[in-house]
Amino acid sequence: MALLEIVQVGDPVLRQRARPLELAELATDRIKKLVDDMRDTMRAAPGVGLAAPQIGQSLQLVVIEDPPAYHAKMTPEELAAREREAVPFHVLVNPVLTVRTTDVVAAFEGCLSFNGFSMIVPRARKVRVEAYDENGERVVKVATGWYARILQHEVDHLNGIVCCDRMESRTLTTTANFSKHWSQKGISEVREAVALPES
Ligand code: ZN
Repeated sequence: MALLEIVQVGDPVLRQRARPLELAELATDRIKKLVDDMRDTMRAAPGVGLAAPQIGQSLQLVVIEDPPAYHAKMTPEELAAREREAVPFHVLVNPVLTVRTTDVVAAFEGCLSFNGFSMIVPRARKVRVEAYDENGERVVKVATGWYARILQHEVDHLNGIVCCDRMESRTLTTTANFSKHWSQKGISEVREAVALPES
């Protein structure tokens, strides 16, 4: 097991459009090891998704996993409000994402490349992703809620887009201040509290 260094915002690799993988590359030791190392790195962080640019490789490769253990401190109501359900480990290669609804959901999210920060990011509630898995098999994922958010976040990374490009900028907070001031508040309450004061 090898843990990879996760690059932080400001690294140019996070602003590049990642190169698609040739399916023949998936069988190489280099890519197999990269997938294993990305999985281990994501779990150690811990995070629910990791895109190859985040470990300095400009490749269209993503790993995702949202295991039940990560939900242990959340109430059933919180999980339901986020439409968050367990997602088993999987790999997406060369994903193509399409938005499947006009519904937009705003929620606080973080990023392993924005270590120590959270921000409200509006995302489509439902998306469809066509991709290949690590074996070169075609996969289609149709996702709603939190999983749809993860997919949009990770596919954004492959296009040089990071969460601050889509955030409601006045909601940016350190993780510590998120816990202290915002975690128990609804989104509209947060928006109201941080709104630009009338001059
Ligand atoms: Zn991220």
